[in-house]
Amino acid sequence: MRAILHLDLDAFFASVEQLDDPGLRGRPVIVGGTSGRGVVCAASYEARRSGVRSAMPTVEARRRCPDGVFLPPRFERYGELSRAVFGIYRRYTPLVEPLSLDEAFLDVTRSRALHGEPGHIARKVKDEVRDGTGLTVSAGVADCKMAAKIASDLGKPDGLVAVPPGTTAAFLEPLPVSRLWGVGKVTEQALRALGITTIGQLARFPEQVLVERFGSQGAHMRALSRGDDPRPVVPDEEAHSVGAEDTFERDQLGEAALLPQLLDQSVRVARRLREAGLRGRVVTLKVKFADFEQLTRRSTLPRPTDDGGEIYRYIREDLARAGLDRPVRLTGVTVSGFDAGEAPKGQLGLFGATPEPAASEGQGKREALNAALDALVGRFGEGAVKPATLAEREPETLRARIRWPTRGGKGGPG
Ligand SMILES: [Mg+2]
Repeated sequence: MRAILHLDLDAFFASVEQLDDPGLRGRPVIVGGTSGRGVVCAASYEARRSGVRSAMPTVEARRRCPDGVFLPPRFERYGELSRAVFGIYRRYTPLVEPLSLDEAFLDVTRSRALHGEPGHIARKVKDEVRDGTGLTVSAGVADCKMAAKIASDLGKPDGLVAVPPGTTAAFLEPLPVSRLWGVGKVTEQALRALGITTIGQLARFPEQVLVERFGSQGAHMRALSRGDDPRPVVPDEEAHSVGAEDTFERDQLGEAALLPQLLDQSVRVARRLREAGLRGRVVTLKVKFADFEQLTRRSTLPRPTDDGGEIYRYIREDLARAGLDRPVRLTGVTVSGFDAGEAPKGQLGLFGATPEPAASEGQGKREALNAALDALVGRFGEGAVKPATLAEREPETLRARIRWPTRGGKGGPG
């Protein structure tokens, strides 16, 4: 029987603001864009009582909560705390799958001998997060991912809901079908038309009818409703390399055409490295030509990195060395060569064991920018931030050589 934890920090951005400024505690705090067209990133529970929600226009939030405290986000600070919290998670299991800055799955099946029963582990993690950072995290414990996630949500804030082994179906039974993954508004209506409103009703419904009505999704939903969710927890740090590659819609000729794509790939790889708390010292460029011949160029860095700008500088040199002479159909950027047993960045300094070596000011700035980038991408998806962030990061080198697609365009060679 597996033991899965879902851990979700409560009202994360807003809680950090209340943590850092005690004057804000107990008050409705709303973090988000403060301009006329801004949206809410996070609302404290005090603000939620007035009906303020994430992704709501700030204008609407101000109407609902006129005495709210409206603050712009401080992503570098959120990134710092997120890394500290994930460092705590990794003390209990190497199987940590981050979903965003404030949410993760842990597989603690094999941690029991050392740390006790899953509910006990969840309690210890919650205590350590509170003592180490001052933040509260809600925990769900179950034998599958879906039930663990539902459980953590039911207990919010500062909750701990453990579904005993073998009782997952009974736990799910009374809940509305909209709680199931993959059941949106449209499917919910269609299920209602069949007389199904609870997960238990779905679990008892004849599978054949569901498959006739919904195809393979019908079988999948029914399996989930019975607590049958075998998806594993996939830890990022288990990877031996982290890469990004793309095939172009049309073959590209020449360095100038390829560099924007390679920059985009470098930034994506760097973000995945940071999510996993990894830094690598081997950077590999892959180029596949239109005739399907392929070449790779590899650089070894003097020190491991998780910075997109730094990865890109080596990739750019590799590309120059490659001597392109034909149209290219695909490029890829990969980082490997991770230090064995490397601690997630930020953890040591925060817990006072060993301070990290003094970072140069430039490095500090880069890390702040990277944390901001990660936070934005975590909330709004890839493509939300690229052009502005890159323009800020390397003004001299990049602006001169690369023309980005107009704002709101979808990245890619422009
Ligand atoms: Mg959260």
